[in-house]
Amino acid sequence: MSLNDKSKASNSNNFRPSSHPETEEKLIIKNGWIQKTDHQLSDFFSPREPQDDISLLVIHNISLPAGSFGGNHITDLFLGKLNADAHPSFGDIAQMEVSAHCLIRRDGSIIQYVSFNNKAWHAGVSCFNDREKCNDFSIGIELEGSDDIPYEEAQYQQLSRLTASLQQHYPLITNENIVGHCDIAPIRKTDPGKAFNWSHFRQLLQQLIKNEK
Ligand SMILES: [Zn+2]
Repeated sequence: MSLNDKSKASNSNNFRPSSHPETEEKLIIKNGWIQKTDHQLSDFFSPREPQDDISLLVIHNISLPAGSFGGNHITDLFLGKLNADAHPSFGDIAQMEVSAHCLIRRDGSIIQYVSFNNKAWHAGVSCFNDREKCNDFSIGIELEGSDDIPYEEAQYQQLSRLTASLQQHYPLITNENIVGHCDIAPIRKTDPGKAFNWSHFRQLLQQLIKNEK
């Protein structure tokens, strides 16, 4: 299906992504893990206490090297296995201990690294509604992308499905509590960048929630 077909379909009331049978199923979350999804366990997490505090969703982007997609460098980084010699820009970041709960790749596939019930190390110095240390109470999702390159429709579809499941599971993540990294660390961070179409994402999310009812 072409992208045009997809965007047309997304405007209809009965939207289902028909070219990806695996995406038609609802994403099921059990014990903090998305079922039937690639799990790559990162050591870069800390326990969350209390668990019922999860009330914020932070959307990021990442690409390694910057602006190029594909390959396993992002997963290698989150697993602490990035080869510093693989690219000149990796020397500075290979030793960083960072992670996210999930990555949504360009084709819409998800890799989960950290249980939602634990803290991933994605937000850094950050503040939301006067509360600091957003890792404590947030879930971090990385989109494989960069600030200025349009995201793939498959990523919007998957992000909205994942968000809908997360909101069901963690009801304190209201629509107002879905933000970009740029919103909680505005001096340091710009992601997901101006290429991220918030209104498209929120429309897809509303449609999914409507279909649930
Ligand atoms: Zn970020």
